Order: sequence, then C-alpha cells, then structure tokens
Amino acid sequence: APGTVIIGAGHAGVECAFALRTAGYTLPITLLGAEACEPYQRPPLSKGFLSGAMAAERLALRSPQVYEKHGIQVHAGDPAAQLDCASSVVTTASGRRIGFQHCVIATGAHARTLPVLHGPDVYVLRNLADARALQARLADACRLLVVGGGYLGLEAAATAAKLGAQVVVLESSPALMSGKVSAHASTEFDAMHGQAGICLRRNATRVDWAARPGGGWTALLPDGTSYDADAVLVSIGAEPDTGLAESAGIACDGGILVDAQFRSSAPAVFAIGDCARAYRHELGARARVESVQNALDSARAAAAAIAMQAPPAGRPPTFWSEQHGRRLQIAGIVNPAIAVQDVVTRSANGWLVERYQQGLLAAVEALDSPVEFIKSMKRIGSPPQP
Ligand code: FAD
Repeated sequence: APGTVIIGAGHAGVECAFALRTAGYTLPITLLGAEACEPYQRPPLSKGFLSGAMAAERLALRSPQVYEKHGIQVHAGDPAAQLDCASSVVTTASGRRIGFQHCVIATGAHARTLPVLHGPDVYVLRNLADARALQARLADACRLLVVGGGYLGLEAAATAAKLGAQVVVLESSPALMSGKVSAHASTEFDAMHGQAGICLRRNATRVDWAARPGGGWTALLPDGTSYDADAVLVSIGAEPDTGLAESAGIACDGGILVDAQFRSSAPAVFAIGDCARAYRHELGARARVESVQNALDSARAAAAAIAMQAPPAGRPPTFWSEQHGRRLQIAGIVNPAIAVQDVVTRSANGWLVERYQQGLLAAVEALDSPVEFIKSMKRIGSPPQP
C-alpha cells in the first residue's frame, strides 16, 4: 500500500518520519534528501562545527541504524524532482517513482544572495558543504566581511574572530538582530562583539562593492571608509524552497500556505518547517518561522494529522543563539505592530528581558539564565506578577 513520502531530510522531515511511527503509523515511509550525506543538524554549522570544536560525526540527527529499525526508507542524494498531486506520485532526480497516500514537503530554505557579490571569495552558510568551505577558508587567518548582522551572521562572525580572523560586520539597520530581539539584548550583544575586536558598521544601507584584482573584495561606505577583505560571508536571510510545490499547483505566497494542521491547498499534501507559512496567532497573520523547535512541532502536528491522532498540545515558539560563548534563549513572538514594554532583570550569570504587549507577557529573552528562562516562559500570555 502507498504510505507517506517526505520530501526533505532536515530537522522537520526526519522528525516527521519518526513522529509517524511514534503515532502508530504502519504504512511505508520514504524520506527523500537532496544532500548526499546523512541527515544532520544545522545549528552547529555557524557555531561548534564551524569553530572545529564539534566533529562532523556528531552532526547526525539520528544514528544511521535507527532509520532501518523504524522502517524508514531513506534516499539521500536523490531529491524529489516532481510532485504530481493528481496521480499521487513523486518522481525523483534519479527517476524513482514513489506513489503516496500522503506527502509531506519539508524542503526548508536556501540562503539569499546579493547579485553583485559572486565568485570564489563569496560564501553563504546554509548547509554542510557551505560550512566546510567557509571553515577551510578561515583556517588561514583572513579578513572576513560579514554582510548582515542577524543571528547567523553574528554567530559566524564570533566564531571567525575566535579562529583569528579580522572581522567586519555590515548591518543595514541601526541595531544588531534588528526586529528579532529587544533593544537591551541588541545593545548587550553589540558590546560583546566590540569587546571581541569585531568591527560593527550599523546603518550600512549603501555599500559599493569592488572585486580586488588579486582576489577578495573591497566594501566602500558612503562616509568614505572602505574595508578590504579576503572573503565575504553573505547572511541576509533565507528564502523558502517552494519551487516543487509551486510546480505542483500548490498555493504558495512567501512560503507554502498551510492550515493549523500544516495541510497545504492539496488535501493529501502537508508542508512543515522553514518552507511552510502557517497562521501565527501572536501576529494575527501567517508567517514563516525559522527555528528547530518550529520544525519539530510542525512535523509532529502533521504526523498526528496523517496518523489520525489528536494534535499535540501547542507550546510557545522558542529559539536560541550562541555568540562568544554566551547563550541567548528566546520564547514567544512579539508583534511588531503593537507597542512593547521591556522589563529587564539581572540574574546570577546574565539577564532576563520580559516583553509585555497589551499588558500580557508576549516574549522572554534570557542570557545564560536557563532556570529563569523556563520559569518566565511558562507565564507567556499572563499579566505581570504582582
Ligand atoms: P532544513 O533543515 O533546511 O532541511 C530541508 C532539507 O530539504 C535540506 O536538507 C534540503 O537539502 C532538502 N531539500 C530541499 N529540496 C529538496 C527536494 N526537492 N528533495 C529532497 N530534499 C530537498 N534554529 C534554531 O532554532 N537555533 C539555532 O541556533 C539555529 N542556528 C542555525 C544556524 C545555521 C547555520 C542555519 C543555516 C540555521 C540555523 N537555525 C537555527 C535554523 C534551523 O536550522 C532551521 O529552522 C531548521 O533547519 C529548519 O528545518 P527544516 O527541516 O524545515 O529545513
């Protein structure tokens, strides 16, 4: 009997396969991966793996034997090339034809690029091959320009500085991790990067790029300062991989549009993780959420729907980042259209920011304060404590 075919073997796809088995699903499960390697964790690529502290073997999401043990057929390096919803068949690049009762799209996202920056000295950081290439480059002390002061760019900047690179970060907005964290968190991380010798240029909205004759690039800012670099890392966000879904006639708009159970406009097809755009009650709108926790939770919700089980209980979205050996944890989502009151408290090793909107706790940020974080996170949706 046809079972479920999962397209994409990242955090979401792999979790969905195992969640189906946990939910008692007995039909065949096929997991298709575009990358030829074993399914792996992405967060270390800008952190421990990039720095060399974490070996490649430790990146695996699951040990190779457990796929077989749970009857999950993995085809790594054989991406889905076509999805035919009318006949319920997925065709892979190598020509495999897999019939399905349910299909789960978990294709993730790819790094956004800048057309002006191209060639061997320009890097992005999304997959293992990207991380290996950047790591090799950082092995010789080099001058690195990072375009984009978001989580990913800043984690890579911190790691590169630790490895001895001279690092300059160009951020177009006035603050780091703009729109993602409180002013307090942004300012604190700004200071940490400065102390580590990283040069931060905020408000870098206009940058002129010139390829250097011997390799590398020069960035020229409107105030006349220029930065020479051997390598440039472009980290300006990711775009969802919706091509396969769009060709199949599935509704997409900045992500594959899904309902609360992660069902797409095609009744037997689900979409989960970074590629999906579901309704977020915190925002009163649909949004894509790029985090491991969202990948796992959406995978479990889709698996429950396929296995005809009750949906898992919802929990607030969470996220983490590591920069200069400090750990930032975030829970909840702040609606940018509504005023926010931040309450900052110090803890033994860091701080906690509780972010209130319309009198209720909307989000929490904690630096090196895991206990306080958990306690506060449980209060999301509640008014301040007296
Ligand atoms: P992915 O993990 O991107 O997996 C999608 C997979 O589908 C990919 O392997 C892709 O090759 C494959 N694919 C695409 N098209 C096809 C096809 N046609 N056929 C078959 N396979 C296909 N999140 C956090 O919460 N905390 C962090 O600290 C953090 N750090 C990060 C650091 C880096 C460097 C990066 C890149 C991301 C980080 N994230 C972090 C985000 C997190 O990794 C993503 O949100 C998560 O990986 C999303 O899972 P996913 O399965 O939806 O997508």
